[in-house]
Amino acid sequence: MVAEVAVLVVGAGPTGLLLASELYRRGVDCRVIDAHRTPLQWDRATVVHPRSLEIFGSLGILEPLLAAGVKQRVARLHSAGRVLGEIDLSICGSRYGLNIASRKR
Ligand SMILES: Cc1cc2nc3c(=O)[nH]c(=O)nc-3n(C[C@H](O)[C@H](O)[C@H](O)COP(=O)(O)OP(=O)(O)OC[C@H]3O[C@@H](n4cnc5c(N)ncnc54)[C@H](O)[C@@H]3O)c2cc1C
Repeated sequence: MVAEVAVLVVGAGPTGLLLASELYRRGVDCRVIDAHRTPLQWDRATVVHPRSLEIFGSLGILEPLLAAGVKQRVARLHSAGRVLGEIDLSICGSRYGLNIASRKR
């Protein structure tokens, strides 16, 4: 199928989908293509990191995410019944010192 669009976005991962959404929001025609014929049946996303929250904040789309998600200030890493360590996000240097996780897992 041949279509006239202003922008061709190559890759339907988070970067391409956010870019396409922002173009659409600003009235710019775009088409997204991906090497995969269908969406993958699994996802890698466990949490939204502080830097992503900053980007969402600058785009004005953060509030619904903050309201819907679970706020995590500390991540504790376990392996074979042992605690390997903790990551304290409140000292990570971001204005959002936390991760956002889904309530459904
Ligand atoms: C196990 C794991 C867990 C993770 N957990 C998290 C998490 O909890 N939170 C978080 O924020 N991040 C997480 N990440 C990181 C996150 O997945 C990446 O930062 C994110 O996927 C990057 O998005 P992207 O769109 O840049 O690239 P990708 O997700 O890799 O998407 C690129 C897309 O472009 C397509 N593509 C590439 N080249 C071409 C081409 N030439 N033509 C057409 N299509 C093409 C690919 O098929 C793919 O669909 C995790 C990563 C892994 C591996």
